[in-house]
Amino acid sequence: MGIPERLVDEMNKQLNRELRNAYLYLSMAAFYEEKGLPGFANYFLVQAREELEHAMKIYRFILDRGWRVVLQDIPAPKTEWSSVEEPVEDFLEAEKRNTESIWRLVDIAREEGDKAAEQFLQWFVEEQVEEEKQALELKARLGMVRGSPAALLALDNMLAKRGAGKS
Ligand code: MG
Repeated sequence: MGIPERLVDEMNKQLNRELRNAYLYLSMAAFYEEKGLPGFANYFLVQAREELEHAMKIYRFILDRGWRVVLQDIPAPKTEWSSVEEPVEDFLEAEKRNTESIWRLVDIAREEGDKAAEQFLQWFVEEQVEEEKQALELKARLGMVRGSPAALLALDNMLAKRGAGKS
């Protein structure tokens, strides 16, 4: 079987997207730390680490198949947000966009007849359901604290625990 160039190219692009998201979430973590919200900062540090793991899974798969890893530029992420809610909105949007690219990648794997890639990507399909759920949940919780610093700090304390046991 020849090398499915289009699929390899799209896999490399997905590797880059996961790294871009890691970079974005790292930037959000720094923003929250500056704002005096270490729990939110922790939440996004854990999220950044997860995206790095996703990138590494793809990196490993590409090499295991005997394909070429071609790393691309990672542009500077957003570094300023106008409110504590805005990064969470961006988080949800980034994960929705990522779901779309994973789904598109599944279509390409199918079109290329690459069963191994199709199966490999199923883990990501499920993971994206989880990612969107987490982003929605965080957005909903943040919506509840609006205008109450005490509630915001309570939420921050809760988010400080992410990654301590289960992420
Ligand atoms: Mg990811």
